[in-house]
Amino acid sequence: MKVKERYVFLECTICKNRNYTTHKRLKAAYKLEKKKYCRFCREHTVHKEKKL
Ligand SMILES: [Zn+2]
Repeated sequence: MKVKERYVFLECTICKNRNYTTHKRLKAAYKLEKKKYCRFCREHTVHKEKKL
């Protein structure tokens, strides 16, 4: 069975640059929030999901 997934951006909460894309399941109720390296801030920052 194929799981429906949707692509989302991961946006740096500091500089608002969209550094990553990822995908998550359509029915997922949670908001993605990940610590990732931002090349604009030059450090690890929290990235939040934004819709494509
Ligand atoms: Zn940043």
